[in-house]
Amino acid sequence: MRTDFGIVVIGGGIVGACTAALAAGSPVFSNMRIALIEAQPPTMPPPEQGVDLRVSAFSRASERILESFGAWSSIAPAHRSPYSDMVVWDAAGKPRGAASIQFSASNSSEPNLGHILENRRVLWSIYSARAFRERVTVLQGQLTALDLDADRVELALADGRRYTTQLAVGSDGSDSVSRRLAGIDTSGRDYDQAAFVTHVRTELAHGQTAWQRFLPDGPIAFLPLADGRSSIVWSTSPDHAQALVCGPAEQVEAELQAAIDGVLGAVKLDADRAAFPLRMIHARTYCTERFALVGDAAHTVHPLAGQGVNLGLLDSAALIEVLGDALAAGATAETFCEWRVLRRYERWRKSENALALGFIDGLNQLFASGQGMAASARRWGLGLVDRAAPLKRFLMTRAMGTGGELPRLARAHVP
Ligand SMILES: Cc1cc2nc3c(=O)[nH]c(=O)nc-3n(C[C@H](O)[C@H](O)[C@H](O)COP(=O)(O)OP(=O)(O)OC[C@H]3O[C@@H](n4cnc5c(N)ncnc54)[C@H](O)[C@@H]3O)c2cc1C
Repeated sequence: MRTDFGIVVIGGGIVGACTAALAAGSPVFSNMRIALIEAQPPTMPPPEQGVDLRVSAFSRASERILESFGAWSSIAPAHRSPYSDMVVWDAAGKPRGAASIQFSASNSSEPNLGHILENRRVLWSIYSARAFRERVTVLQGQLTALDLDADRVELALADGRRYTTQLAVGSDGSDSVSRRLAGIDTSGRDYDQAAFVTHVRTELAHGQTAWQRFLPDGPIAFLPLADGRSSIVWSTSPDHAQALVCGPAEQVEAELQAAIDGVLGAVKLDADRAAFPLRMIHARTYCTERFALVGDAAHTVHPLAGQGVNLGLLDSAALIEVLGDALAAGATAETFCEWRVLRRYERWRKSENALALGFIDGLNQLFASGQGMAASARRWGLGLVDRAAPLKRFLMTRAMGTGGELPRLARAHVP
């Protein structure tokens, strides 16, 4: 049956836009029309100066996926903040002390552990990539209806426009409307925490190091920015996060300095302040007939390990790989997205993501479990991990996105 599009991606955040761009840039999809429904597509490049509050740590795997269609290198080096080291410690321990874990690129063959980038700059680099501009039809609007039939999908936008497609991909974030319309349930919980974010100047240089200290209410991270500042993500109780957003600057600066154990000396606020509620969500299935979920719509994780968008980009690359392989093996524009193909994607990514979600959630609980025996065990465990080379290497490769079952685009290019 003829449809308006072969693939319609619902939600054009980083993960959805990347999914559309990957399909657009792959020769096996060249006969297929691709659309992206987004309520608020970016209309102009971010200003040259300044660093937006929303930044993320991007792994090596994400870098490779974005570079596969030229998006990564289109971001000016001045806007990419590489970090070469990471130091993680417990509230009761000391940075670089016996009960800390230290990761360093100098112990690997990699030039750095990853990059801190502004979300808006990454998004713009995807929307302005050649494959995206030439092959993706952006439908600005809000999805309100989704009918999944055996032979096609019908979609409707809030203003009444209607479209048909062979496959719909839900990438409309953690409150995903498409997931609800597709009848997919979720598991998870609210963390009763919010992430306070801002940027600060510090007395001492950050040394391209990501510093993270686990406090009883949640972890605080100082992430190094290329302009010498550090970006803060402090997961704490919702009331405390609100007090940090609204409180007097000197008081908040003193709290930040104490929370990171003075490791970077005096702290000066140097940006707006905001807070985001935190929760964990995992979709019970990733696909139904002619429909697949990617990114935060499939899984929303605590920011403590800086993995949310990285897991989402791996979903994008895996989904497009599975669909592309089906087309290359002779599937038609009608059969490339049939249930048995989508199930391959689901089996692959759901198990990888479940592992990451369990690990991240477990870490948050472990560090929230107060003082006494739990704290002693934790400090002992941190020191142990730091000295256990194979386990440390496993954690490092997972964090850099170079471990696990990777999509081809995320693997190292071997010349
Ligand atoms: C404080 C904080 C720090 C974080 N730090 C990191 C980090 O260091 N590293 C990392 O990997 N991750 C991090 N994350 C997580 C990361 O931000 C998310 O995982 C990522 O942004 C999800 O991208 P997405 O494209 O899946 O969803 P979103 O960014 O939520 O995009 C969804 C898109 O869908 C659109 N949309 C929604 N509903 C509709 C509709 N009905 N119709 C049309 N369009 C719709 C929205 O406008 C939006 O553009 C952090 C998160 C927080 C809160």
